[in-house]
Amino acid sequence: MAKKLLLAGGGHAHMMLLARIGYLTKEGYEVTVVQPSDHHYYSGMGPGMLSGFYTADDIRFRTRFVVERQGGRFIRDKVIHIDADNRIVKLESGICEEYDVLSCNTGSFVPFTAIKGKTDRIFGAKPIERLLEAQKQIITGCNNHNLSIGVIGGGAAAAEIAGNVHLLAKKNGCKGVKIRVFAGRKLMKNAAPAIQRIVRKYFQKKNIIIDESGHVERIENSTVIMQNGQNHTPDYIFLATGVQPSPLFSTSNLPTGPDGGLLVNKYLQCPDHPEIFGGGDCIYYEPRPLAKVGVYAVRQNPVLLHNVVAGLQGNDLLKFNPGGGFLAIFNLGEEYGALQKGPFHWGGKASFILKDYIDKKFMTRFQDLEKENAHVPGSS
Ligand SMILES: Cc1cc2nc3c(=O)[nH]c(=O)nc-3n(C[C@H](O)[C@H](O)[C@H](O)COP(=O)(O)OP(=O)(O)OC[C@H]3O[C@@H](n4cnc5c(N)ncnc54)[C@H](O)[C@@H]3O)c2cc1C
Repeated sequence: MAKKLLLAGGGHAHMMLLARIGYLTKEGYEVTVVQPSDHHYYSGMGPGMLSGFYTADDIRFRTRFVVERQGGRFIRDKVIHIDADNRIVKLESGICEEYDVLSCNTGSFVPFTAIKGKTDRIFGAKPIERLLEAQKQIITGCNNHNLSIGVIGGGAAAAEIAGNVHLLAKKNGCKGVKIRVFAGRKLMKNAAPAIQRIVRKYFQKKNIIIDESGHVERIENSTVIMQNGQNHTPDYIFLATGVQPSPLFSTSNLPTGPDGGLLVNKYLQCPDHPEIFGGGDCIYYEPRPLAKVGVYAVRQNPVLLHNVVAGLQGNDLLKFNPGGGFLAIFNLGEEYGALQKGPFHWGGKASFILKDYIDKKFMTRFQDLEKENAHVPGSS
């Protein structure tokens, strides 16, 4: 009987595996991909899509199309349970799927749950596709020249969303938009001081308020209630308070790290169940915790591809090397970027142009799979 490979999520760490489905099906393996959407969105370009600088098609991969074109099976659904002892995954629709090898790339979510009342004007930084709905609503809201928007969170995602939602409102005729970033005690506190200064200066120029008076306690009927007792009622709220791995692994009683991510060893393999692999934001890498950034998911691709195929074929596994520091460029809107690489920092248009170039190159590399006779990245 054909061996079954199941990919839970078609995220950034599965790009090369998705590209090799044609090879795997030709070798006689049954490949199934489960994902809640026919597309996967590239998060690095998400804030740029929010502002309208990119279209949805610019920043998404046609996962279903790519899978089916190569002879794989795509199921639009969500994995909600992994029965590792019986090698079965349960999907939200109630369907059960068997596997011989399972690879998980189900990402992360924003865990802010202290919300009571209406939620239709509250948007999480993830999933990225939800930013499209936010964009639609805010364009309509721009009829109100006193539009106010709250962004809860003090990290890079919050800064990128604030800058890009400002641009969106401005482009849609709402020059007086009031944006308040609820940044806790300090905006971008994990970034280098030079980056903090670049972002602060840019926000001051755009009249984006940086509220560093404390943390948000809860949201009640669209009112943001802070621990210091202050209240604000913006028209729209974005939540960018950090992410947590999808809860799938803890609820499935699989080994997890302290953040609830699937525990994987140096081979990106679950130590208790060697036929389960994983990559991206949903894992906890046992040798050392990794930041939840797409850079690591992208770096995991070749090792995950090799090891998943080795798992099917019984070959030796490769070790994942997370590598050293990485280039980070934050898109603050209006083609203005803040770049950080080691001790080097730069704020301005050149940083944005570089980010745009790198992001588009990544997209083209894998979107090319959607074309006839495409070269398959990762193939020799
Ligand atoms: C606004 C924003 C901007 C960012 N910008 C950058 C940046 O510029 N550079 C950078 O390095 N990092 C950036 N990050 C971090 C980056 O988003 C994550 O590290 C990256 O998305 C991780 O990739 P992933 O594939 O693990 O997860 P995801 O991108 O979340 O992908 C997971 C996939 O799995 C699917 N899925 C989810 N649950 C299930 C399930 N139960 N069953 C099946 N499928 C499922 C989802 O639909 C999705 O397609 C940003 C994050 C945010 C929020």
